[in-house]
Amino acid sequence: MITDKIKIDAFNPDQKIISRAADLIKDGELVAFPTETVYGLGADALNAEAVKKIFIAKGRPQDNPLILHVSDIEQVNDLVYTNDIARSLMLNFWPGALTLVMNAKKIIPLQTRGGLNTAAVRMPDNPIALALISRAGIPIAAPSANLSGRPSPTDAESVYNDMAGKINLILDGGSTNYGIESTVIDISDPENIFLLRAGSTGIEELEKFLNVKLKIPGANNLKRSPGTRYRHYAPNIPVYIFDNDSEKIERDYKNAGYLGLNEPDENFKEQIIFNDVQNYAHGLFSAFRKLESDGVKFISIELPPLSGIGLGLTDRIKRAANIS
Ligand code: AMP
Ligand code: MG
Repeated sequence: MITDKIKIDAFNPDQKIISRAADLIKDGELVAFPTETVYGLGADALNAEAVKKIFIAKGRPQDNPLILHVSDIEQVNDLVYTNDIARSLMLNFWPGALTLVMNAKKIIPLQTRGGLNTAAVRMPDNPIALALISRAGIPIAAPSANLSGRPSPTDAESVYNDMAGKINLILDGGSTNYGIESTVIDISDPENIFLLRAGSTGIEELEKFLNVKLKIPGANNLKRSPGTRYRHYAPNIPVYIFDNDSEKIERDYKNAGYLGLNEPDENFKEQIIFNDVQNYAHGLFSAFRKLESDGVKFISIELPPLSGIGLGLTDRIKRAANIS
């Protein structure tokens, strides 16, 4: 299969390109597109055969459910059972990087929701994504457009590197805004709201809005958040946390890369210093991909502060380093 990568203006998406992409989605094919978080690999969320193609293209475990992307709050009622909290969160945070897990209606194939009786829904804040979903007229299931386990793509070139030959079309809308995925919360029981994945929307903002503390699923509750069971976001070279692995790092820092907010004392082969946490999140995955292709032996990485997007960023870094 030949994979077309087409540039499209994020501020004024060309309707001809959008309708070509929407037709592919309606025909059960895959299209990669930008969102404000990372690039998504989209298929018709209500077509089990189309969704199966996502799992095959990514090599994604079948029990890791997908997020359904909508372009309109009204669409959500067809998909899941909403409640007052869901409605107020949607009105306040959408379009945006907040994914809501609610009880699924039967219309969503089990394939899309990884066999669960809940489903995850969000409205992305990107004009290309919104135009595509609205033109297709169906919810679009879209995980990140990388091979399973690899760093998520924050530009079209990274999508191409992982997906060339496997999908029909990549909409190239430039670099994404946030760089890490959405925050996922489970609101299926409004009395017990769980944080399933930290992400681009800070939990402080959510807790202030909801006036409750989000619960963290315990070990016996991990099936609530299937995606978090797998190693993720990892480049194909080792990732060591700067403060934890100083011995390994000191032995060979001259051949290693460094990522962080602060200049290290050692002189690494390559250093990428971000001037704030937003830029760090924005640049993390592309820095992973750059350092591995530049041939450094490992990546030494500094953890950011745990507030705002820093919580989600820390989660991604720890998973890439294979620690929790
Ligand atoms: P990705 O699309 O690769 O960014 O991953 C989607 C995330 O949403 C994964 O961590 C999933 O486990 C989570 N997710 C999707 N649907 C559900 C659901 N029904 N219940 C719990 N988590 C979900
Ligand atoms: Mg992913």
